[in-house]
Amino acid sequence: MNEIKVLLYGSGLPVAGQLVHCVVGQDALHLRPHEAEDLRTIPFDGLRADVAGFEHDRLHLAWKHDDSSDWSLIPADAGEQKKLIAALPQHVIPGMAQWQRATRSQSWVWQGIIYALGFVALSFVLLLWQHDRVAMWAANRVSMETEKKLGEQVLKSLNPEANFLQEGEAVNTVKKIGEQLTAGSRYQYQWYVSKDPAVNAFAIPGGFVVVNSGLLKHVDSADELAAVLAHEVQHVEQRHALQNMVNSAAVASVVLVVLGDANAVAMMLAHQVSTQYFNRQVESDADIKGVQLLHGKNMEAKGMVSFFKKMDAGFDAKKEGEKEQPSEVAGWFSSHPDTLIRIRVIEEYLAQHPCGTCTTLTWDKAAMLAGLEAGEKSK
Ligand SMILES: [Zn+2]
Repeated sequence: MNEIKVLLYGSGLPVAGQLVHCVVGQDALHLRPHEAEDLRTIPFDGLRADVAGFEHDRLHLAWKHDDSSDWSLIPADAGEQKKLIAALPQHVIPGMAQWQRATRSQSWVWQGIIYALGFVALSFVLLLWQHDRVAMWAANRVSMETEKKLGEQVLKSLNPEANFLQEGEAVNTVKKIGEQLTAGSRYQYQWYVSKDPAVNAFAIPGGFVVVNSGLLKHVDSADELAAVLAHEVQHVEQRHALQNMVNSAAVASVVLVVLGDANAVAMMLAHQVSTQYFNRQVESDADIKGVQLLHGKNMEAKGMVSFFKKMDAGFDAKKEGEKEQPSEVAGWFSSHPDTLIRIRVIEEYLAQHPCGTCTTLTWDKAAMLAGLEAGEKSK
């Protein structure tokens, strides 16, 4: 019998779960060893499958115990998960068939993408000492169509149905300002608001821009929001996000060849995009081109400075009347380094390039916040 390592959660167990061995039987899961005798066998018909984990890639099996307490388990790692999915029957456990289908199709799509980008690995290894240039060279050869497909896959792996607001004033506000900024672009942008308290926003190759609800709560004016969007738009327009992805795809294709696990590589790539890291040069480039974009649309760019200054100060917790979680501010901050230097560069640019025709944007902040609240509740 094939033993699969899983982490078990339930009353009396450690918060981080207890490592136990699981065997898939004819019509039940058998767990061992565990002190509580009656926990050993869980019939399939009491199980329910859904997704868990930060990347929404972890199979989560839940059931109710006799005393109606909630129990659940997740596979110990990606390898164990693969074994468990293969061993479990499809139609007996609610949610399972869908899970298996999703896993299979995702893994195929990713395998295709990774192999398609695999040629970069060779250049990457050969030209390691100037891999930034290689990534730029390769990224500039990716067609807009491929870039869009790539972006769609990344977006899908972020599970938009569960994590993004679908409608309401918050989504409309981001969309309205974003569309004003990107009118006439070669990209067709899509704007998303993620139910995430971290003060962050990020761009996905192909023109997908995601703004966290945490960021929307911390911008004090429509100009500040426009500045953040302009910065992210430039990560798309300058293909920074794509270059980053080509860079990691080069590494990923090596990992794939070594490990042969497309799901693990897909997880790695998706994670990379949402926690994207650019060096200061790239960030400054996005800042200044973001300012130019704003000015080109006659929009006031000073919001970029005021927002960055707030980021640098870590926001005023008392003024907000709530306790600031350090991790919430960390999002954009950690992925956007050297804020003080960047502020200085922007201020110098603005001093040399004043925009007489630029005007301040207006918005209904109260309606936007109400939209956020309603959207977050409707989860
Ligand atoms: Zn950036």
